[in-house]
Amino acid sequence: MTDVRLREEICRFGRSLFERGLTPGSSGNISLRLDDGGWLVTPTNASLGFLDPARIARLDAQGKLVSGDAPTKEIPLHTALYETRAGARAIVHLHSTHAVAITMLPEIDPMAVLPPMTPYYLMRAGQTALVPYFRPGDPAVADAIKGLAGRYSSVLLANHGPVVAGVTLEAAVFATEELEETAKLYLLLRGLNPRYLSPEQVSDLVRVFGLTLPRHDEHGH
Ligand SMILES: [Zn+2]
Repeated sequence: MTDVRLREEICRFGRSLFERGLTPGSSGNISLRLDDGGWLVTPTNASLGFLDPARIARLDAQGKLVSGDAPTKEIPLHTALYETRAGARAIVHLHSTHAVAITMLPEIDPMAVLPPMTPYYLMRAGQTALVPYFRPGDPAVADAIKGLAGRYSSVLLANHGPVVAGVTLEAAVFATEELEETAKLYLLLRGLNPRYLSPEQVSDLVRVFGLTLPRHDEHGH
């Protein structure tokens, strides 16, 4: 895809996410890795609903601004995941309500934030890790993401929001949406003793769709 098309795609998905209330105000940011090793990154203080393709930050392979507005200050979230997650070509970070809400619940397992509720959550988002709360701008959040060693394509920042990688921007957006909707389902069903997918049903999905779930192998089922 050409540079122009990629910029348009960032704006189109950004507007779609914003208009559906998935990230308010000027929160949230999107990045794309380019073939030359550089990046396109949404600008600082920009609403995802009103992006201008020409003002999207273009960074070189060293992360230096080549053109456009200054990139989001949350760029360490993106670079930490690109550095550790082989094959990540696009990253979406949102402040989406239900995903943020579940990070504050006491029972959350930081290595598998949500139970296996639907096949599409597992197929698109995989499992999700939770990293602790960090003050916005604290560089330690990047170390926490790197500490997951790229095993997760979707990470939740406590009291903040999801960071999700994909092999394309569309894949990263769809995975973020699955994470948000599954968090919503979890909250709807919390305390109602719901029936999640069984270990056998999860194993079947892993086998048929070739999924890599970090926790699945550890438990050996
Ligand atoms: Zn944020």
